[in-house]
Amino acid sequence: MTLTVHQFPCLSDNYGFLIRDDATGQAACIDTPDAAAILRELKTLGWTLTHILNTHWHPDHAGGNAEIKAATGCQVVGPAEVERLGTAPDRVVDDGDVVMLGETRFEVINTGGHTLGHITFHDAADQIAFVGDTLFALGCGRLFEGTPQQMWASLAKLTALPDATAVYCAHEYTASNARFALSVDADPALKRRADAIFAAREKGEWTVPTSIGLEKATNPFLRAPLLRPDIADPAEAFGAVRAAKDSFKG
Ligand code: ZN
Ligand code: FE
Repeated sequence: MTLTVHQFPCLSDNYGFLIRDDATGQAACIDTPDAAAILRELKTLGWTLTHILNTHWHPDHAGGNAEIKAATGCQVVGPAEVERLGTAPDRVVDDGDVVMLGETRFEVINTGGHTLGHITFHDAADQIAFVGDTLFALGCGRLFEGTPQQMWASLAKLTALPDATAVYCAHEYTASNARFALSVDADPALKRRADAIFAAREKGEWTVPTSIGLEKATNPFLRAPLLRPDIADPAEAFGAVRAAKDSFKG
């Protein structure tokens, strides 16, 4: 393991992630949900921030960029859409680009759908992916900007990663996702996972990170073609499950 991940809850249900390339000591934050919390954690760790890596433009992901950049002088790396908050990233990246944090190599994967320009940062050597609001434990991001077809293609890029890949999602939505999943899927593996999730959350434990393998086995959005055999097109089956979640009152 050459990348250390420091995870902490912030805002109402976000996770902040500070990461450090152990070989060089370079450190980055994945998104900037809460500038004060991120700067405090950095101080506690004694890390020097060199980069902000943004997944998408939403304020709970890029809203702290200006304050953190002013405090640390770090470089902002992200999709062009981050400019919608007022300032363009220092380096705009998209699908296929490579971002180095010291000796750690992140491949940028375009995972649009939640927002059009949403990206994922994938560190293949350490089997780690920072997926923002694309894939959640038992869930996926709402389609604020993209189509079901776009989001399905994005999710397919993530499920093509090795099963052992650790998936760092940006929110702790898992218990509510589990309630919806149980309403559309009677699979015993899902039932076992949901029980474990409810027990963990009652103890205040985190359910993030998850893994690609676990999500492929139990996430109702990834299992949409199986859950909706009446819909021939996989992306449309996904769209139907996504629409059901949008109107789910659980
Ligand atoms: Zn978002
Ligand atoms: Fe978010």
